[in-house]
Amino acid sequence: MSRWRDAIESAGPLPDYMWIDGHQVTAGDRDQIETLDPGSGHTLQSVPAGNSDDIAAAVAAAKTALRGPWSEITPKARGQLLHRCGERIRADAKRLALVETLDSGKPLRDAEATVQRTADYFTYYAGLVDKLEGTTVPLGQNKVCFTERVPIGVTGHIVPWNVPVSMVARGIAPALACGNTAVVKPAEDTPLTALMLVELLEDAGLPKGVINVVPGRGDVAGQALSEHPDVRHVTFTGSVPTGKKVMTAAATHLASVTLELGGKSPHLVLNDADLDRAIPDVLAGIYKNAGQICSAGTRLLAQRGIHDELVDGLIAQTRTMSLDHGLNNPDMGPLISARQLQRVAGFTDRARQRGIEILIGGNPATIAGCEGGFFFEPTIAGNVAPDDELAQAEVFGPVLSVIPVDDIDQAIEIANSTAYGLAAGVHTRDISQAMRFARAAEAGQVFINGYHGAGDTVPFGGMKDSGIGREKGMAALGAYCEVKAVTVTL
Ligand code: NAP
Ligand code: MG
Repeated sequence: MSRWRDAIESAGPLPDYMWIDGHQVTAGDRDQIETLDPGSGHTLQSVPAGNSDDIAAAVAAAKTALRGPWSEITPKARGQLLHRCGERIRADAKRLALVETLDSGKPLRDAEATVQRTADYFTYYAGLVDKLEGTTVPLGQNKVCFTERVPIGVTGHIVPWNVPVSMVARGIAPALACGNTAVVKPAEDTPLTALMLVELLEDAGLPKGVINVVPGRGDVAGQALSEHPDVRHVTFTGSVPTGKKVMTAAATHLASVTLELGGKSPHLVLNDADLDRAIPDVLAGIYKNAGQICSAGTRLLAQRGIHDELVDGLIAQTRTMSLDHGLNNPDMGPLISARQLQRVAGFTDRARQRGIEILIGGNPATIAGCEGGFFFEPTIAGNVAPDDELAQAEVFGPVLSVIPVDDIDQAIEIANSTAYGLAAGVHTRDISQAMRFARAAEAGQVFINGYHGAGDTVPFGGMKDSGIGREKGMAALGAYCEVKAVTVTL
């Protein structure tokens, strides 16, 4: 516990306010939301539960800021400003990472990587601001027609708890690159680093009102943001049912949406694969962030020729994994909340009742010194039928379902047999087989011989129930610009 208290103390004062129009807004007589440290279960901080009036104030500030000094900054200077934002984040990376670990539970080295990625989003989009060119359209001798990319307006960003700070950046950095302004609604479980981030951005020179952060409950603040008529685009990451609510609310005023929803991604290992590479890769694909990643490789499709050797190897390495508080940099940290722990345990309990063999793990864990934490064992379920709940539903925890397959044809059929279509992976030494799988997989991203191998500059998004639109890379810019065509008759 003294390590925990020292860590909180070294993080400095934690935000206990909303950030609207460049100002702290404290709770006053509003409700408050407690945010916990998932590694200990202790309360870390309370923040105001923003209501629909707060969202309205934030949207009004963002709308005013659209026409303020922000609109007068040249593209070159806007790029330089975004670059400074990236550098400002890097200068405070240690503190941000520490708070990210305390608020979300992830191992400190993962929090550090996530904060670097947060900075990288700003640096990447900084370089694109003055390259958002239009086109000319030939209309004949007596006309000139050109297109410009103009900001879409106020953008709303509804963020989940699994990778809090970098998911804020993933949305707002391209939104800012295109000249928009934003209102961010962080998750109840992880509101702190979004509030810290906006202060750093303003410290780097971002005009007030350009980014506003309103923590609050999803069905109040999130709903109000989605249905606000002055919000022209909503970027949402989270579950399918909530994504549908956001899209329905946005539809009332015809706002566009980017929806980054769940996944049940297949990871295929063929008989000719290099198992020394495949085994650690399958494990990283499922256990990173304790399985709380939408693109996690949750279904292992194991071809029968290597099935036993592969599964034995996975079990052996899973057995050596450490589970501990994120500050201690374990192989795996806790889940986000008691609710999520109960949800994940519900999946393995029901699987056992259906006769599925849990080969390792499958239970909540108690960690000495962190008795109040929300830990779940790294888990492998064997011989799961492709249509079983465990092979179809998003668990969002460290639970791998192993599905034996005969050949690549059957693997493709099973790979595409869920409602989701976010990511897919394959291990093989045969490039033709790899490409065949990559082409056939219904997935927005495919990884060959290296799961999660892409990074923050590669377009990311889902097919089918996994969502609408693409984030990351240049593909994200389409959501944040309108194309205006100007035609001159000479
Ligand atoms: P969720 O309900 O989809 O929450 C995501 C975000 O949406 C949070 O900021 C949430 O606010 C907000 N929200 C909730 N209801 C809303 C509404 N009616 N209108 C607008 N915004 C709303 O997800 P969850 O309940 O935290 O997690 C449940 C499951 O979703 C997980 O087990 C997992 O399967 C999936 N999930 C997926 C991802 C992903 O990366 N694709 C991320 C997180 C969760 P509050 O925090 O206040 O609820
Ligand atoms: Mg928390």
